[in-house]
Amino acid sequence: MPRSINPYTLKVLAEYQEHSSAEVDLRIENAHQAFQNFRRTSFANRSKWMLRLAQKLVERREQLAQLMTAEMGKPITQSRAEISKCAWVCEYYAENASEFLSDRHVKTDARKSYVTYEPLGVILAVMPWNFPFWQVFRFLAPTLMAGNTALLKHASNVTGCALEIENLVRDAGFPVGVFRTLILPGARVEEVIQDSRCRGVSLTGSGPAGSSVAALAGKYLKPSLLELGGSNPFVVFQDANLDQAIDLAVQARIQNSGQSCIAAKRFLIHESIADEFVLRLTARFQSLRAGDPTSEECDVGPLARVDLAEELSDQVRRSVEEGAELLLGGHREQALFEPTILIGVRPNMSVWQEETFGPVAAVMTYTDKEDLLEKAEHPTFGLGVTLCTQDVERALALAPHFNEGAVFINEMVKSDPRLPFGGVKDSGFGRELGREGILAFINTKTVFVG
Ligand code: NAP
Repeated sequence: MPRSINPYTLKVLAEYQEHSSAEVDLRIENAHQAFQNFRRTSFANRSKWMLRLAQKLVERREQLAQLMTAEMGKPITQSRAEISKCAWVCEYYAENASEFLSDRHVKTDARKSYVTYEPLGVILAVMPWNFPFWQVFRFLAPTLMAGNTALLKHASNVTGCALEIENLVRDAGFPVGVFRTLILPGARVEEVIQDSRCRGVSLTGSGPAGSSVAALAGKYLKPSLLELGGSNPFVVFQDANLDQAIDLAVQARIQNSGQSCIAAKRFLIHESIADEFVLRLTARFQSLRAGDPTSEECDVGPLARVDLAEELSDQVRRSVEEGAELLLGGHREQALFEPTILIGVRPNMSVWQEETFGPVAAVMTYTDKEDLLEKAEHPTFGLGVTLCTQDVERALALAPHFNEGAVFINEMVKSDPRLPFGGVKDSGFGRELGREGILAFINTKTVFVG
């Protein structure tokens, strides 16, 4: 039975009844029936509903933020910011979808030929707990604006957020059935993917979940989009503005208590400034306020579940056994994990090889360009890299050498409704956000008049 447990107080907040197969079938049918009319609605109408959805988010921001913080422990100030960002993505697609999906005329030997963009049908979203609203909204806004309908299978520990999202869409005035939540364990998503009424699947989550869902999508011939894990390098060049680099490093590692796919996880510092960087990073980590996520002053909350904190503890322990030096932190109390710094890290160590989902910075030095590129390249992940330098031209020249979905210069890697977002290698395939995001579940149809 799915349960929401407050990771700070460890109190059970709610228990939910898993949907029966009959209920799942009914919800797929609702979404399928809704699609028959919704696909014909105008962009103007969809925009009207989408803007109302943005408004509902803003009106209910405090209540939604409190719920998110209670269910998965995000510091309350960051929960509020997440709800505001969801309103932004709704507004962005409300304003731009019609232009993104307008017909494209192509000169050929036809009397007339053009490309037109049509929705596919019911799309399933399998979503994670780390940004319980944002991950869903960055899927929901383009998917509905394109004229698709959607089903959400959210992470089991944030079912309260999933049900609130369903309520918000309904209260915004969208036609009944356009967006439904399914309460299901991951093991049952095949029931939905195999159904001929389901026309695509988007998953944000871990590699194993992505692999399993992509295998099902392959088996049943459904398009799929995967946003998976990452271990982003954060590079500080010799000439970087260190004040700025430290600010970015702290934010990029600590935001969401370190539980972000695009967090900076591997710090690559030029050997000439490494001692000063580490000294200053340590001072900043020591000043972070960790604990109660409902406190307005909280910088680092608990991890979303006790087992996740145990896993992180194990990664740190193994890395130390492998030869890393624990400079700061490393302690865990239930789901609370201290901000931690490991130095002397080498590429074969657990903390460099595996994704660390929590406030743990792994620091390594580099000597020159070749050394940097070799160490930055992760054997499996490729979401994004941050480069801190005052020589922007040099950074731009280096950008093509990084096998990543994004290169951010003097800025932490972050998602923005206006820019495509996604990874390469085991970090996933397909893109969300921007124009690319709305094309993810679209029939790109050619029309030719001979
Ligand atoms: P997770 O365990 O993979 O769960 C994600 C979703 O997949 C949940 O709804 C989960 O349902 C479901 N799921 C798990 N195993 C499944 C399976 N075998 N078949 C079908 N569905 C399955 O990931 P998480 O721990 O919630 O999230 C953390 C991971 O997500 C990290 O690796 C992080 O890097 C990644 N992430 C990536 C991005 C990105 O955009 N690239 C963004 C955020 C997070 P249950 O909860 O019911 O198990």
